[in-house]
Amino acid sequence: MVWIGEGHPHETIAVPGVALADGDVLVAVEMSTICGSDVHTVQGRRHAPTPLVLGHESVGRVIATGDAGATTVDGTSLRIGDRVVWSVTVSCAHCDRCTQGMPQKCRTLGKYGHDRVGAHGDLTGAFASHVQLREGTAIVRVPEALPASVLAPASCATATAWAAVARAARDRDLDGAAVRVHGAGLVGLSAAAIAAEQGATVEVLDPNVDRRAFAGLFGATALDRDPDVVIEASGHAVRQALDGVAVGGTVVLVGSVFPAEPVPLDAESIVRRLVTVAGIHNYTGTDLAEAVAFLAGRGRAYPFGDAVGAVRSLLDVDAALVEAAAPGAPLRVGLVPGH
Ligand SMILES: [Zn+2]
Ligand SMILES: [Zn+2]
Repeated sequence: MVWIGEGHPHETIAVPGVALADGDVLVAVEMSTICGSDVHTVQGRRHAPTPLVLGHESVGRVIATGDAGATTVDGTSLRIGDRVVWSVTVSCAHCDRCTQGMPQKCRTLGKYGHDRVGAHGDLTGAFASHVQLREGTAIVRVPEALPASVLAPASCATATAWAAVARAARDRDLDGAAVRVHGAGLVGLSAAAIAAEQGATVEVLDPNVDRRAFAGLFGATALDRDPDVVIEASGHAVRQALDGVAVGGTVVLVGSVFPAEPVPLDAESIVRRLVTVAGIHNYTGTDLAEAVAFLAGRGRAYPFGDAVGAVRSLLDVDAALVEAAAPGAPLRVGLVPGH
C-alpha cells in the first residue's frame, strides 16, 4: 500500500518480480501495527519522502533468501519458514558510527517505512503483504507460540523501551531503584514492565486516566521517594522529568521524536544535582533480540497483546490510520494482509 502524500488515499501496487540481492531476505507479513509516527506522517506533521510504503512494526515469515543467505542477530542461518521480526534500520556495519555501537545512526542508514520507494525496490515498508529485508537489517527469530499482536510492535515500541531501560541500567542497578515513566503509550508501558522485571519500583504518569489504569497491568505502582531514574516517553514532560529526578539520578529522554517546543535547561540545577541526561533513539540489533527474549519470557506476565485493540485488513489502511489517530484509540491498530 503506497502512500503518495497527505490527503490522498493509499494506492495498491502489485510487485510482480522481486530481485533479491545476495544477502536479502523476502518476508511475508503476518501482521503489522500502526505506530504513532505513521499517524504523524499521514497527518503531515512529519516530513516524509513520497511515494512511500509506511509501517515499521511487523512480524512475518521468511519465504525466500538471496544466494548468500542471511543470518539472525545471534548468528544462526535463516531458513524458509522462519518466523521473524526485524529492525527499523538498515546499517552498513563498517562506518565509524556502526563500529562504535550506533548502527541506528549509520552513515548510510536506511529505514523501513521511512524511505522513498524505488532505490531499494518497492517492498520497503510494513504496510504491505511482503517486505524485502536488505543486508544490514537486524533479524530476530521469534517463537511460534507468541501472538502476532505481541510480536509486531517489538521492532519499534518494545525494542526502543528495552534500549531506554538498558541505558538507565548502565548508570545504576535497577534492582531496588525507583523509576518514573512519563507517558503510558506502548514505549512507556513496555519500559515500565521491563524495569519492574529488573527489580525496580515503577510509577507511570500520564494525563489519560484509562491509560494510567492500564499501566497498573504493566507493573506500575506509586513511588514513595524521588525517582533514581526517569524515562520520558511522552515527549511532553521533559521539564518535569529533569526537575523530578533525584540527586545523582539519570533522565532518559526517548519520547521527544516529534516536533515540540524546546525546553529551557537549568544547567546549574543539572550540575548541582549531579544529574545525567541521556537521549535514546531506536535501538541496536542486540536490543531487539533482548526485547524479543523478554516478550517470550518474563514479559508473558504482562498483557502486551492487549495493546492491539483492533485488527483491520491491510486494504483498509486509510480507515485504520484514522482509527489509530482518533481520541481514545487503542495503543495499536493491527493490519493483516489477505482479508
Ligand atoms: Zn515506530
Ligand atoms: Zn554504518
